[in-house]
Amino acid sequence: MRQLLIKTILSPWALLIPLPFWAAVVGLIHLNSHQLIESAGYEMARQRGEVAFNLVQAMRHWNTEHGGVYAPLTERTPENPYLDTPEKTITSPAGVNLTKLNPAYMTRQLGEIMQGSDLEINLTSERLMNPDNKPDAWEAEALQTLGQGDSQEQVEIVGDRFRYMAPLYMEEGCMSCHAKMGYEVGDLRGGLSVSFPVSYVERLTSSLHRESLLTHLLAFLLLSVTGSLAIFGLGRLLKSLNTERSQREIIINERTASLSEEITRRRASQDQLQYLAHHDELTGARNRRWILQQLKDLLPAYSKQSDHLAVMLLDIDHFKKINDTYGHDAGDEVLKGFVKTLQNCLRESDLLGRYGGEEFLVLVPHSNEQTAIQVAERLREAVAQATYFSQAGNLNITASIGIALTSTQPTTSEELVNQADTALYQAKTAGRNRSVIWKG
Ligand code: GH3
Ligand code: MG
Ligand code: MG
Repeated sequence: MRQLLIKTILSPWALLIPLPFWAAVVGLIHLNSHQLIESAGYEMARQRGEVAFNLVQAMRHWNTEHGGVYAPLTERTPENPYLDTPEKTITSPAGVNLTKLNPAYMTRQLGEIMQGSDLEINLTSERLMNPDNKPDAWEAEALQTLGQGDSQEQVEIVGDRFRYMAPLYMEEGCMSCHAKMGYEVGDLRGGLSVSFPVSYVERLTSSLHRESLLTHLLAFLLLSVTGSLAIFGLGRLLKSLNTERSQREIIINERTASLSEEITRRRASQDQLQYLAHHDELTGARNRRWILQQLKDLLPAYSKQSDHLAVMLLDIDHFKKINDTYGHDAGDEVLKGFVKTLQNCLRESDLLGRYGGEEFLVLVPHSNEQTAIQVAERLREAVAQATYFSQAGNLNITASIGIALTSTQPTTSEELVNQADTALYQAKTAGRNRSVIWKG
């Protein structure tokens, strides 16, 4: 897993890993900026409508304050047929006919002047005096909404125009003309709608959008480069950490291996020492110390009249001659073969050990004189019948056996071995290849 991660990070493709992430982050930021610019543009447009409305409203107040203003009566400014007021048209001392312009007349004329310009205004009402002021579909709907009193303005993009409408309320100064229509002060008189092309807002926002896009592309570029550099650095760091770790692991493994080798070696030499403590190295038989210890351990159990432990000392006849004739190695081979022959003849309960040189001790538990002689004879015959292989050729040997038996009299292991040795000497002097039992 760790290796796979390092391999992935070190591959050139890994540098692309941060790109989708940064693209998503920058994309989201850009989207948010887009929304902000759009709503800022919208707010700017709304404020433009509001300012226009406020200006016209101020102009209307000014007019009302003066109880209407006079303008020369011309073709373009005829008498207002909807105005019911004394002195609607007067003549100046110089003979110029002047007609009174109320706020509505003035607003309509202003609207006419602005018609077709970047900013258009229109005075409209649900309860019309002048049919020219009839609201269009959007204005009618806006007037209805404003009439419900829930909001103080209506703002909307309709087709390619931004539209704004705010309400006009009946004021004291208006009542002289409008009271007859059933209005009261504070009633919704109508609305003043302001409109201008959406392109006005788009001109402003599109440059902001362009700037925002460029900034975010640059940010994406910078983040991608730094992100890729970070991945590259991380890859290098992981690689060096991993190399260090691998080297440490190799050293630890080597140390562990040499330690376990050492343990195995020591255990083997310990086993070897343990083995040598009780065995004879040449023949594999038990050694002198072991067999004498067994004898000592067994002795206390033999104090009955009928049950005896037989101690037999076996000695190869004329063994020196074998060494002298065929060499010491041939003598060793004979010794090994001799042990095997004895082991094949003995029961599991019988114990065998090399007493020294070509002399061996055999302990036969639960014996009497008769069985002891039987066992000794069996051994002697087996030795005589066996053929011993050596580099010098096949050899035949014989052995003499001295036997001693435990008695009810307390006796020591040394005494018993001495007795067996005496019996062995007797067997030798009697001509060898025989077994002799020691008789006190
Ligand atoms: P006898 O019939 O009287 O027992 O004659 P012998 O030659 O067997 O008696 P002796 O005790 O004189 O000789 C024993 C020889 O056994 C002497 C020694 O060199 C030899 N010998 C003792 N241990 C070893 C051994 O481990 N290997 C070999 N090859 N020879 C051994
Ligand atoms: Mg001997
Ligand atoms: Mg001998």
